[in-house]
Amino acid sequence: MSSFKDLGLSQDIIKALNKLGYEKPTPIQEKAIPQIFNSKKDLKAFAQTGTGKTAAFSLPILDQLDFKTKDPQAIILSPTRELAIQIAKNINEFAESMDHVNVLAVYGGSNIEDQIKRLRKGVQIVVGTPGRTVDLIKRKRLNLQNIKWLVLDEADEMLNMGFKEEIDKILEATPDSKQTLLFSATFPREVEAIAKHYMNQPVEISAGKKNIGAENVSHEYYMVSDRNRYASLKRIADINPDIYGIVFCRTRRETKDVATNLITDGYNADALHGDLSQAQRDIVMQKFRSKHLQILVATDVAARGLDVTDLTHIINYKLPDQIESYTHRSGRTGRAGKKGISIAIITNKEKRTLQSIERNINKKFEQKKIPSGKAICEKQLYSLIDKVHDIEINEKEINDFLPDVYKKLEDFDREELIKRFVSLEFNQFLSYYENANDLNVDDSRQRSRLSDDSFTRFYINLGKIDKVNAAHLIGLINEKLGKNNIEIGKIELLNNFSFFEIDKNYTDETLETFKNFKHKGRKIFVEIAEKPKSRSKFKGKRKKRRSKRY
Ligand code: AMP
Repeated sequence: MSSFKDLGLSQDIIKALNKLGYEKPTPIQEKAIPQIFNSKKDLKAFAQTGTGKTAAFSLPILDQLDFKTKDPQAIILSPTRELAIQIAKNINEFAESMDHVNVLAVYGGSNIEDQIKRLRKGVQIVVGTPGRTVDLIKRKRLNLQNIKWLVLDEADEMLNMGFKEEIDKILEATPDSKQTLLFSATFPREVEAIAKHYMNQPVEISAGKKNIGAENVSHEYYMVSDRNRYASLKRIADINPDIYGIVFCRTRRETKDVATNLITDGYNADALHGDLSQAQRDIVMQKFRSKHLQILVATDVAARGLDVTDLTHIINYKLPDQIESYTHRSGRTGRAGKKGISIAIITNKEKRTLQSIERNINKKFEQKKIPSGKAICEKQLYSLIDKVHDIEINEKEINDFLPDVYKKLEDFDREELIKRFVSLEFNQFLSYYENANDLNVDDSRQRSRLSDDSFTRFYINLGKIDKVNAAHLIGLINEKLGKNNIEIGKIELLNNFSFFEIDKNYTDETLETFKNFKHKGRKIFVEIAEKPKSRSKFKGKRKKRRSKRY
């Protein structure tokens, strides 16, 4: 293992690295830095998020800058504004002990005139998003004719985000003599095509599996039914009271729904997706970075460039469409030497995708069970007690109020007081989880874990003649009970009436709910029905209950 000094870096840079707490180079730094110092050959680097790739390309560039010229010498392209800002910030930190280094991040959504002014003054390193970079080239404000290094950071993400045309334009505006450094976590066809078209016999390096992020991440999955996905997410969050993580969704719609539900259910959560304005995004990110939010619900694209080092969990609410994106998602935890957990909530149908991901990351997922309501209540209770135990008391602020408070509570002894404080914080949890079902589904067959004996069979005077089908009945039950985590069993539709089964814990609630219920002006009766003697004669199939939300 070499040191930063062995890699040929200057004292100024080593000083800054020491200050940042970088003790030794990461594998990608060990390979890329000497290559960029000693050779003008293009470089194709396989490097995942969190491998230390920013330092890998920027340190040797910094140490080879020519301070006599005013034109930009390096252009670093990054998929998002946040990542561009982050890279520029990192470079400034690396250059802290160097004089005259000017780095500028250029990105859309902020004043172009200011960026032009800064460029005019002289900037050696430009970090840009593809769109704004093209804009500046077109306006003839960014001259890339004297560029020595062109870095494509997270090339796969840039192409995923549809920046192919912009990348082509930028590459065409740069001289042939430059050294192109391409960093990508994955190498799908589109990235290979860019490499083939624009790079000249590149040297290939890889940080392999030894990236500092991936090693610290454990991968877990929970097998549930689709309609229980949200309830499962809540339980995962509840069993981890100190969770600080990102929940990845596949679409903007899903992101909004999950975030809205979490907020309504009292979680410290918010959404990050493409429909937000830049100002709204900034607010959400700031709240998340400062830990005012515990859970950020995001799409893959929106979360790019969000550099938060101490995330405890990544939750794949749904697995990504592109298997490679899983690496990007999970690479957001387990950073800077910390441990992280990447969780996938999957249905039986998604098992295959999970196996493809396992092959892709060369790691096995461990199956976990969605915790029971009781386990969650226990965890939450002890977490609360620990917090009470450890809370710092601000004597000065509360002393004035205490005499009155003591007086009000003087009737209670110690035990009674503890019971009351615990109940105050805790009753909501207890009642939510009072009748909580097992949400896990069998690995091989996606069906309810409840046995036939666990259901009550009901009669309802609605049938096929009323143009009611199983889905309508499920919708009606969902709506009337106002919950979507109650297990529904078999449904048997007959002409004039039907039978349905519900988790027997909800027998009274169901009877009560359907009392005085009218459907299209007709009084509807719901009554307990006897179960047929032999199950094999029962014609009704167990239907999947659709959730109202998704
Ligand atoms: P990057 O892949 O460039 O986003 O870096 C991921 C994280 O690792 C950042 O928080 C860096 O500050 C940190 N990092 C990069 N190189 C090193 C190093 N040699 N030693 C310790 N931390 C590092």
